[in-house]
Amino acid sequence: LGSVVVVGAGLAGLSAARALRGQGFTGRLTVVGAEPHRPYDRPPLSKEFLTGTAEEPDLALERPDDDLGATWILGDPAVRLDAGRLELHSGQTLAADGFVIATGASARPFPGAVTLRSLDDARWLRHRLRTARSLLVVGAGFIGAEVASAARTLGLDVTVVEAAPAPLAGPLGAEMGAVVAGLHAAHGVRMICGVGVDRVDDGGAHLADGRVLPADVVVAGIGARPETGWLAGSDLTGLGLTDRGDGIECGPDGGTGVPGVVAVGDCAAWFEPRLGRHLRVEHWTAAGERAAIAARTLLGLAPKPARLPYFWSDQYGLRIQFAGHTVDGDEVTVEEGAPQQHRFLAVYRRDGAAVAALAVDMVGPFSRWRRQLETKGSST
Ligand code: FAD
Repeated sequence: LGSVVVVGAGLAGLSAARALRGQGFTGRLTVVGAEPHRPYDRPPLSKEFLTGTAEEPDLALERPDDDLGATWILGDPAVRLDAGRLELHSGQTLAADGFVIATGASARPFPGAVTLRSLDDARWLRHRLRTARSLLVVGAGFIGAEVASAARTLGLDVTVVEAAPAPLAGPLGAEMGAVVAGLHAAHGVRMICGVGVDRVDDGGAHLADGRVLPADVVVAGIGARPETGWLAGSDLTGLGLTDRGDGIECGPDGGTGVPGVVAVGDCAAWFEPRLGRHLRVEHWTAAGERAAIAARTLLGLAPKPARLPYFWSDQYGLRIQFAGHTVDGDEVTVEEGAPQQHRFLAVYRRDGAAVAALAVDMVGPFSRWRRQLETKGSST
């Protein structure tokens, strides 16, 4: 390959650029980003950055020894990708032999509420939480739960409203979701599950059951949508955008079906052989690791399998970790520790085989289980 353009200057884009160079690519490398910022780390935005224990320079993803020899075009989003040619909002076009699509995701909006995805969102929210007395969070997913935790650390009154019967019921299952609900309650959060928020206005959040809950700040954490809209008008035979609008369909090596185009990070739904379907993994570790696999694919090197999805979340000073996949009907057993004490490790099994592990405040045992799931999965 003589030239590669990486579209998206976030974690996956930067990781892909690094991996390309690391795997011997010496051609012309360009990284295009919609935001004006150099690549920054998002996980602290809902944690240390909100509470004030991390500042903006701490968020930088580039390292002093990064020597990518890349041209950076920031603040100029890509608007169209045709065979061998990328068009930017400014009208500039970039021709290249290879493209890495790494445009991430954006927060699903909720009218009247703010969302948290970007540094600019976090700057605003951090400022507001300094003076606000109460926070209401719509949705008890990871970001909502972390914002709730940060706001409690800052001393705010916090209410979380979740339409599902328990927080994080999707990724963790209802049983473990209930454990997480207990964690919030133990830290003084009012957690209301099983009822949706109809609308938010100056009076607060209007719940489906008629209750109106006033709050100084309302944050919605109701999921993210892949940033693929810009590809809609593109002329690319073979590019699979999932029917559900859930990302760019890729093989297990990041290949998109369009020669010379790979996709990675939150915008990509890679084929997951363990599940037999495509899955968008919206987590930090996968964005970095899979960028290296996608770079190999682009360079025509032998593929390497992707690791099991893994994520962590920090809430109330506790590290929550999860690896693997769980689906409805999996059996979950606590193997170590005690959920009531907010320190435990649980394993999910399907047809007797371990498929996932969850840990709260048990980093060491979790690492062992993660390795075990990775290596022998079905026989554990
Ligand atoms: P992004 O980081 O979103 O980067 C994509 C970049 O592409 C963005 O800068 C975007 O502006 C740019 N872009 C978009 N459209 C265009 C376009 N048309 N042209 C050019 N550029 C474009 N994961 C965990 O595992 N643990 C955590 O604790 C955790 N905490 C998180 C907390 C927050 C607040 C957020 C938002 C995410 C968190 N995540 C966490 C998820 C993790 O940060 C993401 O999985 C990761 O950032 C994905 O990287 P990415 O490069 O695919 O996407």
